Amino acid sequence: LRFPMGRSIGDVISRRPGREVRALNGVSLDLTRGETLGVVGESGCGKSTLARCIVRLHKPSDGSIYFEGQDIFDGEIKADRTYNRRVQMMFQDPYSSLNPRMTTEQILAEALSVHNMRPEAEIPDRVAELLDLVRLPKDAQDKLPHEFSGGQRQRIAIARALAVEPEVLIADELVSALDVSVQAQVVNLLLDLQRELDLTILFVAHDLRLVRHVSNRVAVIYLGRIVEIGDSETLFSAPSHPYSQALLSAAPSLDPDNRGAVKRLEGELPSPLNMPSGCPFHVRCPHASNICETKVPALMPFENRGEVACHHVEEINADA
Ligand code: SF4
Ligand code: MG
Repeated sequence: LRFPMGRSIGDVISRRPGREVRALNGVSLDLTRGETLGVVGESGCGKSTLARCIVRLHKPSDGSIYFEGQDIFDGEIKADRTYNRRVQMMFQDPYSSLNPRMTTEQILAEALSVHNMRPEAEIPDRVAELLDLVRLPKDAQDKLPHEFSGGQRQRIAIARALAVEPEVLIADELVSALDVSVQAQVVNLLLDLQRELDLTILFVAHDLRLVRHVSNRVAVIYLGRIVEIGDSETLFSAPSHPYSQALLSAAPSLDPDNRGAVKRLEGELPSPLNMPSGCPFHVRCPHASNICETKVPALMPFENRGEVACHHVEEINADA
């Protein structure tokens, strides 16, 4: 991962007792300053592993993640806490990430003091500013996490991430636990903040409608590999990879004009413990041929529609 210019992650092996699972495989992508890159795929595809690698909760067994040209697991940048401040992760469940015994003010003050963001005397003012930034009333500062709604708690988690003035936000299923109406509010807040603060966002989610709304670019991941990546509107309106096509047509009401062409996603997601040979999608793909069973397709530019990893992308999209 070279970012703000780029990123390339090689393999990530996640260890569970007694076995090794290859969670990501040859993933390579760039995150450009100021953009929102959406990452979609079924659960277990490696989306969260990718997010966790970027904030160094997880180390790739192979491959590198570069931030402004420096390998984040290497040398100077590793010793320097600046990276931890500049790249902030937000999780799905703020209930488990916010200390239940701390008031909002204490939670935000703690984030500010860990990174020496403000002299002690300025902390109360900064807390008020942060609450304002996430559109929470001033009296929120004296309350405990359980006194808030789910959406409000997620706003506090956002305020905590913003307290340290990050440049990159990693949002892993940020609003998945919230009601649909609340999801929109939190996501729109995030988009406003992105413009105000010039943030770069990696938005990991399984909800395609949300990802489409939020992202400039989208990466579709299947069994730890990027199968398609490109401009969000292009990809959602005309997906090129058979998996992206199936994923989008399996999503209800994503595109009301396109209900005719429902191709359901058949079969189960194979276990990463038992990775298919060749194209990882071949066991479920309606277009699979012999080569698909033996040769892994490389991610290659396809027309002006981003990059696609499929041996038959041209024929498949010529038929459509
Ligand atoms: Fe389907 Fe083959 Fe393309 Fe894989 S490479 S998506 S199996 S057609
Ligand atoms: Mg996940």
